[in-house]
Order: sequence, then C-alpha cells, then structure tokens
Amino acid sequence: MAKRKSFRSSLPSLKPIAQRFWPHIRKQSRLLTGAFFALLAETGLRLLEPWPLKLMFDRVILPAGFNIHGHNIEALANVSPILVLTILSAALIVIATGRGAAAYLSTVGMAVAATHVMADIRGQLYNHIQALSLSFHSQAKSGDLITRVTYDIERLREVTVVAALPLVTHFLTLIGMVGVMFWLNWELALIAIAILPLFIFTTTTMSKKIHKVARTQRQREGAMAASAAEAIGAIKVVQALSLQDFLGQTFAKNNRKSLKESAETQRLRAGQERLVESLVVIVQALVLWRGVQLVLAGNATPGDLLVFLTYLKVAFKPMRQLAKYTGQIAKAIASGERVIALLDTVPDVRDLKGARSAPAFRGDVHCQGVTFAYDPAKGILRNLTFAAKPGEQVAIVGPSGGGKSTLISLLLRFYDPIEGGVQIDGHDLRAYTLASLRQQISIVLQDSVLFATSVRDNIAYGALGASDAEVEAAARLANAHDFIMELPQGYDTILGERGATLSGGQRQRVAIARAAIRKAPIIILDEPTSGLDSTSAALVSDALNRLTQGKTSFWISHHLSTVQHADQILYIEQGRILERGTHDQLMVEAGRYAQMYHLQSGRYLSEKSYAN
Ligand code: ADP
Repeated sequence: MAKRKSFRSSLPSLKPIAQRFWPHIRKQSRLLTGAFFALLAETGLRLLEPWPLKLMFDRVILPAGFNIHGHNIEALANVSPILVLTILSAALIVIATGRGAAAYLSTVGMAVAATHVMADIRGQLYNHIQALSLSFHSQAKSGDLITRVTYDIERLREVTVVAALPLVTHFLTLIGMVGVMFWLNWELALIAIAILPLFIFTTTTMSKKIHKVARTQRQREGAMAASAAEAIGAIKVVQALSLQDFLGQTFAKNNRKSLKESAETQRLRAGQERLVESLVVIVQALVLWRGVQLVLAGNATPGDLLVFLTYLKVAFKPMRQLAKYTGQIAKAIASGERVIALLDTVPDVRDLKGARSAPAFRGDVHCQGVTFAYDPAKGILRNLTFAAKPGEQVAIVGPSGGGKSTLISLLLRFYDPIEGGVQIDGHDLRAYTLASLRQQISIVLQDSVLFATSVRDNIAYGALGASDAEVEAAARLANAHDFIMELPQGYDTILGERGATLSGGQRQRVAIARAAIRKAPIIILDEPTSGLDSTSAALVSDALNRLTQGKTSFWISHHLSTVQHADQILYIEQGRILERGTHDQLMVEAGRYAQMYHLQSGRYLSEKSYAN
C-alpha cells in the first residue's frame, strides 16, 4: 500500500489522463483482461522460480536433521534424492518456460491494446483539431499541433508498453514476494521492508524534479518544431530575406536549452537509479547479516535464505524500474497533458443545440447590424447592414485592413458576430449546422491552396464523390481543362506541395473548378485575380463570370475595374460601410470610391501610355 502511494504521489497527473482516455481503454477490455491474467500468471511463476533451488538445497544437498519448515518437504521425505533432483530440475525448466510464455502473452496483449487505444485517441485528436475554430488556429502553431498528433501520442503508446506494463508486473511481484517473505520469516521480512520509507522519500522528491524539467523540455521541443515548421513553410521568404542565419541562431538557442534540459533529466534519473541501487545493497547486507545468524541457530534453512536473497534482488526491481522509468513516464504524462489540453479546447464556433441541416439556399443574404472584433479591445466591424438578393453580384471594396476579409469569414461562420447577425434566406446562420451551411458556399481566395494530390482530387474536394465527368465539366467552366490535358498525366498529375508545379493563374483556375463543382448558390471571391498578369487575369475573370452566373456572389477586389459591373458595391473603411450603390451611382456621388477609381484608372492610363 505504501508503495502504491509513493507511485501515485510521484505521478500526480496520471489519474486524470487515465480517466480522460477511459472510454478508449474500455473498448479494449477483453484484450486487456487477457493480458492481465497472463500478467498474474507471470507474477505467480516468478514467485515460484527460486523454490526448486531451495528444495534442492534443503532436501537434496544438505544432510537430514535440519529443522526444515514447509509441508512440501515432509511429503517428499520417502522419495529418492535423485528422483527429487530430476523433478526439481524439470520444474525449473517448466516454471521458466511458463513464465516466459505468460510474459510474452501479456506484453503482446498490452502492446496491441495500447496501439488500438492510441490510434483511437489520435483519430479523435485529428478530428478535433480540424473542428477547432479559426480563432484557435490563427493563434496556434501548426508545428506544435502536429507534434501533439504524432510525437506526443507515440510517446504515450511507447511508455504504456515499455514502462508502465513492466512496472505493474513488478509491483504485483513485489506484493507477492513481501507476502511470501513474511510467511517464511517475519524478522528478515521486516528488515527487508524497513528501507521502504527512505525509498519512498527519495523517489518522490527526485521524481518531482524530473517531472518539472521534463515538462519544460517538452514545451520547448513543441516550440522548436513549430518554429522549424514555420521556417520551412515559408522557405521562399526566408531565403529571399536572407533570414537563414538569424532564424538558425534562434533555433540553435532553443536547441541548446533543450539539450541542457535533456541532460539535466538524464542526470537526475541516473542519480536516482544509483541511490536506489545503494539502498538495495544495504538491505541485502543487513538481511545476510541477520539471516546467516538465524540459519546457524537453526531457525531458518539455508534454502530459506536463498529464497530470501533471490526475492530481495527481484523484489527491489520494481523500485529500480520505477526510478529508471520515472523520467520516461513523467515525459509521457507531459505529453498526455498536452493531448488532453488540446482535446479540452472547445471550438468557439460550433453547431448550436437544435441546429438543423440547412435546406437548399436561394441565396438571399442579409447582414443586420453586424459588429465584430477578434480582440475585444479592437473593434473590426462596426454595425454593418446590407442585403444581397439571390443571384446578385456584390462587390466589397476599400483600403486594406478595412475588414473586407473579416466580413466574408462571418458569412462562412468562421467567426460569430459579437452583435447583430447574418441571415441566409431569412434565418440566422447559427440556426443551421456548420457543415450544411458551408456546403452551400464556394470560395476562391487570392492564393488558393491546392493539396499534394492529383488535379482530379483537388477539384473533386469541392464536392466529395463527384464523378469524373463532373470534374471535367467544372474544369471546362474554369478554363482549366486545356492546360490540365497538357500536364504529363492530365487529371492524374500529382501536384507539388501547395500546388507549386502550377503557375499562379493555373492554380486559381483549378481552385475555380473546385468552387464550381460544389454548385453552391453563394460564392465568395477574395481577390482571386490579384497578383496575376493580365492574360492570366483575363482567363481567370472569364472563368469567374461563368462560375458566378445566377449565383449570389461576393467579390472582394482591390482593382475596381474588375467589379464595376457589380449590382451593388460596398465601400468599407475601418469596419464601416461608407458608401454603397452601383458604380455609376458612386461615381456621381464623387466620394471615396470615385476617388479610388480615378486614382487607379489614372495609374492604369499612365502605365498604358508608358508601355506604348
Ligand atoms: P481587409 O480584408 O479589408 O484587408 P481584414 O478583414 O483582413 O481586412 O482585416 C481587418 C483587420 O482585422 C486588420 O486590422 C487585421 O489586422 C485584423 N485581423 C485580420 N485577421 C485577424 C485575426 N485572425 N486575428 C486578429 N486580427 C485580425
């Protein structure tokens, strides 16, 4: 019991982790029960292991006349010594083989169960990360999240099999052995366990230290992975700005700190191990000192002493193991805590209670008094109201940082407004489930992300399960079919990471095809032509016009010439709609829009005349 307490106090966070993962663990209950019984068998056989040796000593080697305890000996009194010796030798083999088999079964059972449990948790974690709101993702570091899904989970699995299972086995063995030792000779048993309080004290204090260092190290490793992922993800910028050395130095600094912490953990662990070993030697010496006296006085047999010494050696193994694995387990606990912390993060934007699947939208969008801020101290959108009728084209223009992209992320319900609301077909977005809402909205962004898979899949991601004919039709609509056919494997060409093997215009057209295949009644375009040369931009614009035909569309654009035919133009600055109307109306109004337009067309004309 005392031992158990020490184990618990040194690992205070194990319980919440086990509780949190309990539903996954329970699913493996059959396998785990089997493994546990194998483990009990292993423990029992381990207790039996020194007994043939004891009997050989007491019954075969030593002359009769000793005061021998134990009824087994009495029962063997009339049998020939050679037969007893043969039986005992055979028993040695049987016990060792049986223990080996039981150990094999328990290890395999546990390993398989642990792998299943961790795969379950990893799946849950992955889905959870995908479901977390953008407000979470815009602050989280992707490298850190990735380490949680891969490294932290793997560490938990490994520790369950490599450290936790042997610890349980040894712990049970310890209890069994203490019992048998008391049964054999209570005096020697008392000497043997007298060391426990000292052991508990040292292990607890040292484990706490190890836990603390391990946790900091774990956090630093997460931060390092995050900064590495960030630098590699933005390698072009890093190289262009010649930031390699600067970033390298920062990384090296963290790397050195992590190294120091790792060395510190190792040092503490090694120290703890040596301490435990010294304690064990002291106990052995004390037991021998008293034990030999007892044997000489005839109060114990040499066989008893043999069993005692063997047990003592094995019984203290759990302690040594505990010391050895504390660091590992502490690290795994830190990993477990990180996994749980992530699982416990609740998405800000999620399906409300009673949310229903949205019916097919007509595309009537109404923003009523919408106020929003990422950070309560800094308002971004202030009391915006506008309406778009089905099939209308709405242009959102204005200077950078005015809140245009923020406004469309509210339409997609990436965030919820602080005040007011967005309605589609007369119902607030929050009345619908997120999936059914987003299903009916297509987006094309400025820098469209393509996945490292085939062109076909990239387009089909817009509507999972789309047929090849639908993919092709969407590609034709997006002016993409021809160039796709010229790719080495046509639609089956695998794109590089982030679609790097295509030009900017081609990427946009694949993205338009992806938006088109969705056949959504509402379309959002966030500067889809910016950064493209005029030929590419013309092809993309042409595709966009076809894409948005008959749909309610929202176009964010810096180039006013691309949206001057919009049914309605909203000029947004500092989170407010300052002007609204058609191009002609706004030009007549001669306000900011007109000013911006003149500025751009003037620049355009001067560029043109310069070119001529
Ligand atoms: P626009 O699209 O008009 O350029 P945005 O909607 O992107 O403007 O940004 C409006 C303001 O919101 C800016 O001041 C920007 O810094 C801020 N902002 C944008 N995204 C976030 C975010 N995820 N977290 C905090 N602030 C943000």
